[in-house]
This record gives sequence, structure tokens and C-alpha cells, in this order.
Amino acid sequence: MFPVSDKAKTVVDALKKYAKDMGARAIQDEVVSVTKTESGFSLRLKDHGRLNCDKVIIATGGVSYPQTGSTGDGYRFAKELGHTVVSPKPSLVPLLAKGSIPKKLMGLSLKNVAIFISDENGKKVYEDFGEMLFTHYGVSGPVILSASAHLRDFGQKKYTLSIDLKPALDEQTLDKRLLRDFEANLNKDFLHSLDALLPQKMIPVIIENSGIDPRKKVRDITKEERQALLLSIKNLSLELTGTRPIAEAIITSGGVSVKEISPKTMESKLVPGLYFAGEVIDVDAYTGGFNLQIAYSTGHLAGISAAEEVIS
Ligand SMILES: Cc1cc2nc3c(=O)[nH]c(=O)nc-3n(C[C@H](O)[C@H](O)[C@H](O)COP(=O)(O)OP(=O)(O)OC[C@H]3O[C@@H](n4cnc5c(N)ncnc54)[C@H](O)[C@@H]3O)c2cc1C
Repeated sequence: MFPVSDKAKTVVDALKKYAKDMGARAIQDEVVSVTKTESGFSLRLKDHGRLNCDKVIIATGGVSYPQTGSTGDGYRFAKELGHTVVSPKPSLVPLLAKGSIPKKLMGLSLKNVAIFISDENGKKVYEDFGEMLFTHYGVSGPVILSASAHLRDFGQKKYTLSIDLKPALDEQTLDKRLLRDFEANLNKDFLHSLDALLPQKMIPVIIENSGIDPRKKVRDITKEERQALLLSIKNLSLELTGTRPIAEAIITSGGVSVKEISPKTMESKLVPGLYFAGEVIDVDAYTGGFNLQIAYSTGHLAGISAAEEVIS
């Protein structure tokens, strides 16, 4: 669901208004430290001195996109209070690719392509269908971001991305299509025969991969060459070498260990009165609202649980 305004700020404003209407008092400041006291907690704030409280909910997010304010402070607070923090890693993050192809295709976005990612043994790691984008460093876009959640072993594993530019056409149908395009361009150079089939930027890359001389007349292209062209369209291959930095990741995987948090209340199993909510916890999911849902659901549960104990 999206707000009518299509703006995230509307959601924030609605939540703030609800909290205010319910009698909540808000202090906007940066928490510098959280310490346990005999009766509760003591927070040190950057501009407002100390704040003593009965309960604390740590909901400081992950460490990705630090410009949104989440710089990993929650991990430090959790560690200082005795919690285990699973090492934060980038997820839903653009990927780096080797070679000159990404630079040549930079800015090109592709719709309706199929991707297949395999490891060094040719074993499937991930496959998907949808949109992707080439950048100067590699690849990005929805299917790539989702794929990144499955590529956690860069350095130990060798991942290869294979892009099928025409997944709706099987090899036979694509061959017939190529023949039709060739017949319409018999006297042209091969270079000028793919305009109807592929985006302009992609044509020189596919031609280079096919090994066919771009200046060869279309009428002289052999069946074997056509087969090589077909393969380069169905299997544009890139070696993936890593991810962009965690600061560019949409989500942080890792965080406060779920083993140390009660799923019924979000309360710490180690420190009574301490609660966790959202991305600071070691949970992450695909795009599509799942991470926001995690934040809302755990936030709601932590809030209700903490308040119930204080009120009752
Ligand atoms: C570009 C982008 C696109 C995204 N798209 C999607 C999407 O389509 N679907 C989806 O499900 N998820 C998406 N996400 C992820 C989603 O936004 C997060 O998972 C979610 O916002 C996490 O909520 P949170 O409340 O746990 O943390 P955050 O939203 O990160 O909020 C943490 C808050 O804590 C504050 N804070 C941190 N440290 C301190 C401190 N020491 N003192 C005081 N305050 C502090 C921060 O300023 C921040 O306001 C996207 C994220 C990004 C960056």
C-alpha cells in the first residue's frame, strides 16, 4: 500500500501524529550511550544530557545508507549491554562485474530479461526474471538487488552472471526471428541488421561476443555464425567480483542475534526491560515491503510489550 501522496513523509507524519495524539512525548536527539542502572536505564543524549527510563527499545536501523541516520549505533549499544551482534553485511546491493562490458553498457536498463547466477562448479545460485541496469562498476536494478541477497561468499566463491536478453523466445524461435531480420537486411553490413532486435548500446557488445565481423554483409553470414550470435544473445556472461560498499546497500543483513531476543515480546533475553525492533536485529528480506513490514511489526510488538509492563 502507498499513501495517496506517494510520499514516505506522509507515513512518518501519520505515525508521529498518532503517537502525539496518544500522549507520547518526543525528544529528538542523538543517543550517545545506553547503560543499565539498578531501576532501569540511563541514556546519554548529545544535546539533552541524561535521560533515565524504565524501558528502552533500540530501533536504530542497520548500517547501510548512513545518510538516513542509521550509522550502526544500535550495534554498539547492544554489544555494550552484552548482546551478540552478527557481523553486518550489505544485502540488496549493486554488484561489481569484471571486464569492459559494464562500462560500455553503462546507463542501459533492460526489461524482461532472465538472469541466472552460478558458482564456480556451474551450480545454480539464483535465477530471476525482470528488470536490471548496467552501471560503470557492474550491474544493478531489481533482479540484481534480489540476487545479491544470495551471494554472501564473495572471495570464497566465483559467481558468474548469465543474462538471457530474449527469454520469451526459445532458441528455435529466436533463430527464425534472426533469419527474418537478416532477410530484410541482406545487403547491409551485419552491424546494421540488429536494430529491431536489440537496444542500440547492446549491439556492439553482442556482435563482439559473437565473433562475427561487424562489416560482413548479412547475406554472407553462415549458419554457424548465426548460432554464435544466438548464443551471445541468450547468454551474455559477466564475472561478478563483489558488492558495492555497505553504505550503498538498501538493507543490512546481520545485527543483534535473534537467539537473544524473545519473539513473543521483542524483549532481550539477557537484559530485562531492553527491547529491539527493526533492521538492527539480525533479520533481512527482499524488497517489496518486507523489510518495512519487519520494522513495523517488531516495532509494534516491542512498543506494546514495553508499555504493557510499565502500565500494569
Ligand atoms: C534507498 C532505500 C530503499 C528501500 N526500499 C525498501 C523497500 O522498497 N521495501 C522495504 O521493505 N524496505 C526498503 N528499504 C529498507 C527499509 O527502509 C528499512 O529496512 C527500514 O526503514 C528499517 O526501519 P528501522 O526503523 O529499523 O530503521 P531506520 O528506518 O533505519 O531508522 C532508524 C532510525 O534511528 C535513528 N538513529 C540511529 N542511531 C541513532 C542514535 N544514536 N540516536 C538517535 N537516533 C538514532 C536514525 O536516525 C533513523 O531515523 C529501503 C531502504 C533504502 C535505504
